[in-house]
Amino acid sequence: MTDFHSSYAWQKARRVARIAARHTCERCGRFLPGKGELHVHHRKPVARSIALAFEPLNFSVLCPPCHNIVEPRTGTPKFGCDVDGKPLSEDHPWFLLGND
Ligand SMILES: [Zn+2]
Repeated sequence: MTDFHSSYAWQKARRVARIAARHTCERCGRFLPGKGELHVHHRKPVARSIALAFEPLNFSVLCPPCHNIVEPRTGTPKFGCDVDGKPLSEDHPWFLLGND
């Protein structure tokens, strides 16, 4: 989803989200007013729900450490499936077929 994250529309949407959150991490309450300091996380990943890509209710304004807890960037790739039989990996082709 690199195209999405580099789009002007997203740059603007996340700036608005940071302002709406008063530049405060919603998880730990850290105040980070600097440019790009706070991350805007999608509760439901864009890869799975493009319709919610610009939905503020789907946003979570987080500082980098909290973002890493909510959505770990490092570590082993996810394999297997959950109790409902859905693949754990967001990038799994299953989701590209419109399944959710
Ligand atoms: Zn935080």
